[in-house]
Amino acid sequence: MKNKFVKVSAALTAFLMICAGTSCGKVDQKKDDKKVVVSGTEDSEKNNASDHSDADSTTDNSDKTTDPSENQTGTVPGTTDKKGHTASGSDKPVSGQPSGTVPNGSSGTGNSRNGSQITDISLTFYEVTLPIGGSKMPIVTMLPADAPDKGEIWTSSDESVAIVDAYGNITGVGEGNCTVTVASSANPEVKANVNVKVETAPDVPVADGVTYIDGILIANKTYALPASYNPGGLTGECSAAFQQLVNGAAADNINIYLSSGFRSYDYQAQIYNNYVAMDGQANADTYSARPGHSEHQTGLAIDCNIIDDSFTGTPEAIWLENHCHEYGFIIRYPKSKESITGYKYEPWHIRYLGVEKAKAVHDSGLCLEEYLNITSQYNY
Ligand SMILES: [Zn+2]
Repeated sequence: MKNKFVKVSAALTAFLMICAGTSCGKVDQKKDDKKVVVSGTEDSEKNNASDHSDADSTTDNSDKTTDPSENQTGTVPGTTDKKGHTASGSDKPVSGQPSGTVPNGSSGTGNSRNGSQITDISLTFYEVTLPIGGSKMPIVTMLPADAPDKGEIWTSSDESVAIVDAYGNITGVGEGNCTVTVASSANPEVKANVNVKVETAPDVPVADGVTYIDGILIANKTYALPASYNPGGLTGECSAAFQQLVNGAAADNINIYLSSGFRSYDYQAQIYNNYVAMDGQANADTYSARPGHSEHQTGLAIDCNIIDDSFTGTPEAIWLENHCHEYGFIIRYPKSKESITGYKYEPWHIRYLGVEKAKAVHDSGLCLEEYLNITSQYNY
């Protein structure tokens, strides 16, 4: 995670980033008004004023975005205008880490002062139903407002059902119910709970205008999905396979987690249009998918862990490269295939094909477009 969260009395702003090929998910993270650490990213600064200009250009130009539909969170009443995530799970969150503890006073401000203790925590919702791969984040208000330490500690009672990151972004992982709790780091007895229900998304819907080639659903720059194609989340088969992958990785002491899963057509349209308005279409096309062209709309694509170039070469990225096909996934945008896939190397973006097909593609050494002998180019 590149951002650190400081409690100070500032509102947090969520910002998201989209992974390079747009194909990828976006991630939202929150950031404090006060600048804290942040590894080399400047853009997040601009978020202060307007909640959604997200940006994060740390990597390539892939991650900038503006995202109106994203939620944000704030600890100070009135400072944040809420933007709730739609529970529809149409987009993804990022979870820098499955459960988190917000570092206290990382800014050093107000840290060890004696002041009012947190006596109450309220949330914008206390119940949520998510599809697997869907996310939603409540806005937190800690009282009294002048308490010096508004640090939050988020935990999930069952991470096989839902995970929560250090900022309270809750993501459905597997079918079931669990409780996500936020506690005051300064006064841990003060807590608030969110009852989370996670449902399996329906299987891939049959819709007119969907392209299958050799039984493989295709969404790339040549082949678009219709707006009506909406599995509502990761498909059941994909999420079950991903859980197997996570378990297999854990057995090798590798921590793989879902950062971004399903994104709806409408959500992608919103993101893409914002980029175009901000940056012009030619630029936007280099890092953001046009609506209908994002593989995240299939419910079969997942961005793992850190969605930017800093993920490249990590043990987790290497593990995915070597093992994801064993669980039915491929690295969808491999190195050196940019001119064919239409997207830069994205070691975090995996696509579910089923074990047999994934192994065949992996063993061929080809990217999916080459394997199926298809193109990935906008025709309009
Ligand atoms: Zn992706």
